[in-house]
Amino acid sequence: MSRDPRYDVLFEPVKIGPVTAKNRFYQVPHCTGLGWLRPRMVAALRGMKAEGGWGVVCTEYCSIHPASDDLPHPYASLWDQGDIKAHSLMTEQVHEHGGLAGAELWVGGSSSANLFTNEVAMDVSSMPNASRIPYQTRAMDKSDIRALRRWHREAALRAKAADFDIVYVYATHHYLLSNFLSSKTNNRTDEYGGSLENRVRLVRELIEETKDAVGDKCAVAVRFSADEGGEGNGNPIIGEHREMIEMLGELPDLWDININDYSREMGVSRFVKEASLEAYMSYVKSITTKPVVTVGRFTSPDTMVSQINRGIVDFIGAARPSIADPFLPKKIEEGRIDEIRECIGCNNCYVGDSKSTPLRCTQNPTIGEEWRRGWHPEKIEPKGSDSTVLVIGSGPAGLEATRSLGNRGYNVLLAEADSHLGGRVSRECQLPGLSEWGRVRDYRTNQILKMPNVDIYLENRMSADDVMAMEADHILIATGAKWKADGQGNYNTQPLTEIGPTNQVYTPDDIMAGNLPSGPTLIFDDDHYYMASVIAEVLRDKGTPVTLVTPESMVSSWGNMTSEQAQINRRLLEVGVEIITAHALVSYNGTEAHIECKYTGKLKPIRVEGVVTVTMRTPDDDLFREVEQKIAECLDTQEDYQPKSLTRIGDCEAPAIIAAAVFAGHRYARELDTEVDPDNRMKYDRVFYEDA
Ligand code: ADP
Ligand code: SF4
Repeated sequence: MSRDPRYDVLFEPVKIGPVTAKNRFYQVPHCTGLGWLRPRMVAALRGMKAEGGWGVVCTEYCSIHPASDDLPHPYASLWDQGDIKAHSLMTEQVHEHGGLAGAELWVGGSSSANLFTNEVAMDVSSMPNASRIPYQTRAMDKSDIRALRRWHREAALRAKAADFDIVYVYATHHYLLSNFLSSKTNNRTDEYGGSLENRVRLVRELIEETKDAVGDKCAVAVRFSADEGGEGNGNPIIGEHREMIEMLGELPDLWDININDYSREMGVSRFVKEASLEAYMSYVKSITTKPVVTVGRFTSPDTMVSQINRGIVDFIGAARPSIADPFLPKKIEEGRIDEIRECIGCNNCYVGDSKSTPLRCTQNPTIGEEWRRGWHPEKIEPKGSDSTVLVIGSGPAGLEATRSLGNRGYNVLLAEADSHLGGRVSRECQLPGLSEWGRVRDYRTNQILKMPNVDIYLENRMSADDVMAMEADHILIATGAKWKADGQGNYNTQPLTEIGPTNQVYTPDDIMAGNLPSGPTLIFDDDHYYMASVIAEVLRDKGTPVTLVTPESMVSSWGNMTSEQAQINRRLLEVGVEIITAHALVSYNGTEAHIECKYTGKLKPIRVEGVVTVTMRTPDDDLFREVEQKIAECLDTQEDYQPKSLTRIGDCEAPAIIAAAVFAGHRYARELDTEVDPDNRMKYDRVFYEDA
């Protein structure tokens, strides 16, 4: 298929100082949880983006010097020859596919306690560590500023030596340079503080010195915030930032613009929709002739074209859409719009950075696996035999297994008890704010429906006898899990002895099936992610008084890993949910619940007509066990039919997030009929060593 001419504008080359991007698709700097620790994995990940058509592919935040160290979060670094060698792996792969490679030079300031290097962190003044590590920075004196400028210049030269095409001055996200810019943090009385001109001085010097050092070959980009505040509600407070951008307007070769509120800039889809930075971006292009890029979780080519044609941006910036679909540009170019694997805005990729582990993606199970498992997001080995695979359950695990097995050419029979596909995804995407999660189902269903080698049997609840009667070569059980109603979980390690009557105790499965309590309700959240909070929203929407009780010191504490905890907390307060932290449900008798203080053990009664327990799930693995039993019986009786394998995956093996189920389905499909060493399933990446 060929490209729709409406999208031609997205494929125009754009000049950035001394270099030219082949199109307008720009992978802005984003974390991977790989950084300097996993150079081959990160190089292959970035290279894959270039192969997928991204005209510019950038690193993550890249430290210029050991005085800016963020471990345990694995940042990139450009400190020495070893780093140059590691980054060269990336630039080579990006160039191989015609992309430009960008390095985001980073100085952490008060965000870095330098726990790895033990260097004293420096910032505009002596200030507390922003991550609440009990360290303070040293206020930079003139010699520190001179040293910083030298380090930045030398890192830029190393970036050039590593063959980067774009080098950043990174002046936002509350790191050192933004602290110099802001009147809220900059109290200096020398030429780097006070007036706007003085506060902008260091950024100006770094832009000029970077241009001087590498500007003959590399473009110099500036990452900058369009605003200086706001309440996270999408109403920007531009403040002095317009004036600052005006002052520097023509100095850099490119403006990479984002916003002050990180939880909005990369907000989850529950709270923030596509192209949500437009209100912030409205003035930027009117005050500079240099190309401008911003993000907005763009997955729709029509939205992208509209952004360009209306003069909001010159480049379509993306982090998450490029993770969910590294081939997004290629698919638009080749007229394969319906094959785009759209980001669902769940921010599970960001957990990699939060937890300092390689990133995962709900939509793209191959991300981070390009090098160590050799997985390509668009290519898969042809089938290894003429086997038929029976997949039972069409949740994210079963659907992804079916899609990938179908792609390999296997004959797949997909049986589903419900009248529709999608399992938990179809249920959960009905909950407030989660509609985009349906993309997990839709992307896979669209593919599967086109496959002549996949047969779908809806409304087919399979018994063990039914399974055996199909005589499939391989049986894959992906039957999911059910929420528990007995209060057992992390806090109560055993089921509660007093919890009932059963018709007044609900689980998320009940709520999603439309079985709701009507009177005052206590939600006990020992799951700590999104589920309890969306259920609270459902109930408040019906006018039900809700008290949310959690043993943690904040609601939805895991939401900190996906950058949505504050938004969830705000939403619950806005809709009138009473929040009780550091307490756990210990009994309920139909009229009164008792909650226990986790610190003192003191009991507190609460009168409620219903309780919703959001604690843990039970794997729905009865079918697996019954089929296992049948197979054993067949062996005993020497029946003709014996499947080659019986496997369970996803929530019915071990309940987890949707991304884990998708990964399990993908891995099953990849590994079928291949030799996998169960003790050594992948290659292990390690840092390069250089002689000192
Ligand atoms: P996962 O997240 O592991 O993919 P889900 O709970 O999302 O699991 O999906 C499991 C799916 O399996 C559900 O759609 C459910 O209807 C289906 N299912 C469960 N038991 C059977 C069965 N015996 N026969 C057919 N489908 C089943
Ligand atoms: Fe998008 Fe979620 Fe994948 Fe991140 S993990 S890229 S938010 S789908």
